[in-house]
Amino acid sequence: MTAQREATQLRDGSTELPGLEDLGVELGPTGRPVTEFPEPKTLRSHGPARIIALCNQKGGVGKTTTTISLGAALAAYGRRVLAIDFDPQGALSAGLGVPTHDVTTIYDLLLGSAKDVAAAIQTTGTPGLDVIPANIDLSAAEVHLVNEVAREQILARVLRQVAADYDVILIDCQPSLGLLTVNALTAAHGVLIPLECEYFALRGVALLVETIDKVRDRLNPAIELDGILATMYDPRTLHSREVLERVVEAFGDRVLETVINRTVKFPDASVAATPITEFAPDHHGADQYRQLARELVHRHAVA
Ligand code: ADP
Ligand code: MG
Repeated sequence: MTAQREATQLRDGSTELPGLEDLGVELGPTGRPVTEFPEPKTLRSHGPARIIALCNQKGGVGKTTTTISLGAALAAYGRRVLAIDFDPQGALSAGLGVPTHDVTTIYDLLLGSAKDVAAAIQTTGTPGLDVIPANIDLSAAEVHLVNEVAREQILARVLRQVAADYDVILIDCQPSLGLLTVNALTAAHGVLIPLECEYFALRGVALLVETIDKVRDRLNPAIELDGILATMYDPRTLHSREVLERVVEAFGDRVLETVINRTVKFPDASVAATPITEFAPDHHGADQYRQLARELVHRHAVA
């Protein structure tokens, strides 16, 4: 629309203002103008880590994929990243190709049967991205910890030992709002909520936000919502676009501008136990996770 027509329209008393799109501004999938997030600056020194919990009690929404891909993207930008497998399924450990048996796991550290946190850390094939693994033992942790003193703060105490060595610690939560997730939220400075662009995406999010609010009230007053990440977005389907629109309506600016598209490259990368940024570095899925890393640095969610 030309400025001329715009002005005429307004003089005519039309209340319809031109949309940003009409003015030639390119809009992203969240309906906001597309931002080019700058390359993160090189860090002169490292740590202490900002701890981010990736949380959603719904399974299959992209928590583990985001932990791996974002962790690898941040590591490629020179950040020191520690990923915590906090799901007894051990998908994060598998996706990063590290062993989970005959090694110290996060379960041993929570229970106190292993005390040296640094010794539990494994390096991965991605320089700068380390992991503390988990296996099915972790499913017994809630039962074992329920009578502990300050049972919600155990993970926070564990991570304190190694926080100085990292710039960011990503906790890959299990799909539940039980004691383990409360431990993750208590340890965290921020929460990142991956949300699948599917029907019922919003179902349960109110309960998750309520849980975060309770943790803020009682255990961790400083916890922040770092953002809601729309995942498995398919720009070709009306359905996907409508779901994203609803999510933006509900959460506004808390929805990150970066959106992750649905692509089979992610399952392929996890079978190869390699982050997408290395498995298919030129694929748009890798681009989107690099953009997410830049957006989070830009928003000061990561140094
Ligand atoms: P969660 O940890 O929330 O359960 P995952 O990250 O394990 O979710 O993802 C569930 C499944 O979906 C996995 O098989 C994963 O490879 C796949 N997946 C994750 N993100 C995408 C995506 N953007 N597009 C297509 N498949 C994806
Ligand atoms: Mg998972």
